[in-house]
Amino acid sequence: MPRSAEYFYSHVAQTSAFPLGLEIDRAEGSWIYTVEGKKYLDLISGIAVSNTGHRHPYVLKAIQAQLDKYLHTMVYGEHIQSPQVKFAKKLSDLLPPGLDRVYFTNSGAEAVEGAMKLAKKATGRTRILSCLHAYHGSTQGALSIMGSEQFKNAFRPLLPDTGYLRFNDPAGLALITSQTAAVFIEPVQGEAGVILPEPGYLQSLRKKCAETGTLLVFDEIQTGFGRTGKLFAFEKFGVIPDILLCAKGMGGGMPLGAFISSSTLMKTLTHDPVLGHITTFGGHPVCCAAGLASLEVLENENVPEKVGEKESLFVSLLKHPAIREVRHCGLLLAVEFESEALNQRVIAACLQRGVISDWFLFNSSSLRLAPPLTISESEIRFACSVIVESISICTN
Ligand code: PLP
Repeated sequence: MPRSAEYFYSHVAQTSAFPLGLEIDRAEGSWIYTVEGKKYLDLISGIAVSNTGHRHPYVLKAIQAQLDKYLHTMVYGEHIQSPQVKFAKKLSDLLPPGLDRVYFTNSGAEAVEGAMKLAKKATGRTRILSCLHAYHGSTQGALSIMGSEQFKNAFRPLLPDTGYLRFNDPAGLALITSQTAAVFIEPVQGEAGVILPEPGYLQSLRKKCAETGTLLVFDEIQTGFGRTGKLFAFEKFGVIPDILLCAKGMGGGMPLGAFISSSTLMKTLTHDPVLGHITTFGGHPVCCAAGLASLEVLENENVPEKVGEKESLFVSLLKHPAIREVRHCGLLLAVEFESEALNQRVIAACLQRGVISDWFLFNSSSLRLAPPLTISESEIRFACSVIVESISICTN
């Protein structure tokens, strides 16, 4: 075993007994290369991060240019750093009015934490609702609104005054009242196994939130930055949130997140107390330079516009009697089998044949696909032939 692999197991803290354990040498476009000289087609993108592919040259150039100027200079929000300002301005220009103030964070979970605080501060209420089978991150606030008791129980006590809605259940919207500070929801549920909203559900949710003065928070940490074929999934469904959460694909491969809202709401974090949310590294200039460049790639190369065609190609090629269902929204796909055991065998067989896939936290019988949005037609054909061949091998 090469030394770093040995140290990976003995010195890097593990949180599962079955890490993938590929020792990475380099990554380029849709491909990951290991130190053993093997290459893998990446159908996961570091879990929906590498939307513009690994190491897009335009993103690398922006990172390099920023490296030559400055790295960290001061905690968030004190110095005027042009990569941050330009990225915030660009996002505001692309987003609807009311989503024009960007608070940059280091991660998705930190964006969730910031938004939870913002919702409490802006409404003066404490109750936060989320959905069963929702995943919003692993810090204690985000964990408090995770839609799975199994993942929460070992870490109690968590935040009080939280509750669940059932995704796509219009009757459950009655739980939203004038006591509710916010509803946190993924417009397309990710870890639940790519569950799309029923027609009208998000509209009814929007209406109920407006009626009760509850803030509607869309967690687009996984669905953002072109993943669903639009820059953000909310554009697909025609429902605008009060607070938008981003991370993952936002940074072009660098760690970056944000909660985005209106100036009126955001101003509430400036007083009583001052510095309502503090972060040292959030909106790091190199990450913002990378994120802005990655967004420009999405625009300049019309990446989101091409997602629908690629989605259709995946769906048309993923045919096998053992596949129960393919759920999909852009290049976020779930291939459902009869059992977790079969899914795990297929994932392993794909890996052996040079294709990286994954499963979902709350849907272990579904194979997860979230490739770089820049994946080519021939790569999709190769990916699907390997998946179908792997299913055949695992079911014979
Ligand atoms: N929200 C959603 C929908 C996610 O998929 C994730 C991560 O998988 C998060 C929040 C948390 O993001 P992070 O891992 O950057 O904290």
